Amino acid sequence: MNVIERIESAKGPLFSFEVIPPLKGVGIETLFKAIDPLIDLKPSFINVTYHREEFVYKKREKGYLEKVSMRKRPGTVSICAAIQHRYSIDTVPHLICGGFTKEETENALIDLDFLGINNVLALRGDPIKTETHFSPTEGGHAHAVDLVKQINDMNNGIYLDDEIREPYPTNFCVGVAGYPERHFESPHMDLDIRYLKDKIEAGAQYIVTQLFFDNKKFFAFRDRCWQEGIRVPIIPGIKPIERLSHLTFMPKFFHVEIPGPLTHALMQCKSDEEARQVGVDWGIAQCKELLENDVPGIHFFTMGKSKAVRAIAGAIFSDR
Ligand code: FAD
Repeated sequence: MNVIERIESAKGPLFSFEVIPPLKGVGIETLFKAIDPLIDLKPSFINVTYHREEFVYKKREKGYLEKVSMRKRPGTVSICAAIQHRYSIDTVPHLICGGFTKEETENALIDLDFLGINNVLALRGDPIKTETHFSPTEGGHAHAVDLVKQINDMNNGIYLDDEIREPYPTNFCVGVAGYPERHFESPHMDLDIRYLKDKIEAGAQYIVTQLFFDNKKFFAFRDRCWQEGIRVPIIPGIKPIERLSHLTFMPKFFHVEIPGPLTHALMQCKSDEEARQVGVDWGIAQCKELLENDVPGIHFFTMGKSKAVRAIAGAIFSDR
């Protein structure tokens, strides 16, 4: 069953989570160790992020620096296949525009289809770490909407090569990202929602949101989407605070606000352990309120660490 079929046939809100591929050189067992503690909570699907190349400077002879392009976290597609094989749980690979030509995208989708993976979260991707803004790859897509259109075309049997005889239609269920606090590059929420609607009209079937800590912002975003005619399920994305440094890291990297009461509680903490407990208590309260307000599920971002997610999801989903 793909994501939308799971949402539509579910008797209650779904539990799902996202993992990141291990750093190059680290074995997949490390990833399984992060997933294992969450399996008894019966996740409906597991997302696997995609990480594009970045530039690093390597020291060479005589003090010269060489700019080298490398992917530090490869393996998204094979990890999806490994998870499906090991746990018999559907996976959702993230596919991004950055770093892909249209043909490479098509080939990646063919790989996924052959592996029996029929979900995709279609994203533009962030700028390369050393760049200030996103530049599309030559021959690739500039915005997630174009990626959604390409996947939708393949679902209709339309490939880049129009000379393929009897093209086989794929059957991907496509999700896209939404931002309750607005995407950081967007000048205004009105425009961000308009582009979000374009992604739905291009064939995306559900939205997973960026992480947020203030439910009021999620509810306002959901209402706004509804007013604009966006009628697909909107799954809230939740990331627990797990250490003191998250107080500044989350706003900086995800462009989200930490509400006053959470900020004050974290500022009283003297250790990461205390901060994690505050994060877990906040996460449990946040999820309970979301579930009381009719969300199709809750999607957790683990970022490779499952302790706090386990504590929150265990409190919310363990009686199923
Ligand atoms: P888009 O929908 O293309 O939007 C990007 C910006 O362009 C927005 O400001 C939007 O308003 C604007 N825009 C959209 N369409 C148009 C248009 N037609 N014309 C002009 N402007 C337009 N990144 C990764 O690299 N790998 C991952 O695995 C990953 N997973 C993620 C998972 C989730 C749930 C979320 C919320 C984000 C994830 N990201 C990931 C980050 C994401 O790639 C970035 O936030 C990126 O900056 C935007 O991606 P998007 O798909 O929302 O882009």
